[in-house]
Amino acid sequence: MMVKCPVCGKGQLHRGKVREEMFGIDLGEYPAEICDSCGESFVDQDAMKKIEARAKAVGLWGLAKKVSIAKSGNSLVVRIPAELARFLRLKGGEEALVRPEGRKKIVVELG
Ligand SMILES: [Zn+2]
Repeated sequence: MMVKCPVCGKGQLHRGKVREEMFGIDLGEYPAEICDSCGESFVDQDAMKKIEARAKAVGLWGLAKKVSIAKSGNSLVVRIPAELARFLRLKGGEEALVRPEGRKKIVVELG
């Protein structure tokens, strides 16, 4: 039986594999149902658990955190949470390049 894609409503879902990543880091390939029209992929509960386990194993889980932007003189300060600093091996005192990516994102590039 063919299953219609719940996203586009046009394509059919076929079994395949998708490469998952988190924060730009590869987490490997997992079985998924992939739409032949829009390309949307759906992983099942089991694969989801494996992806989560892999993300935890490589230390990516929970690295995205809400922080507030503080004022410091004429500049603004964004705190880097301790877990993220550890993951990036930052100690403080390093130089970085700060630039916008559109109007909703700040990229901090480490040297
Ligand atoms: Zn689709």
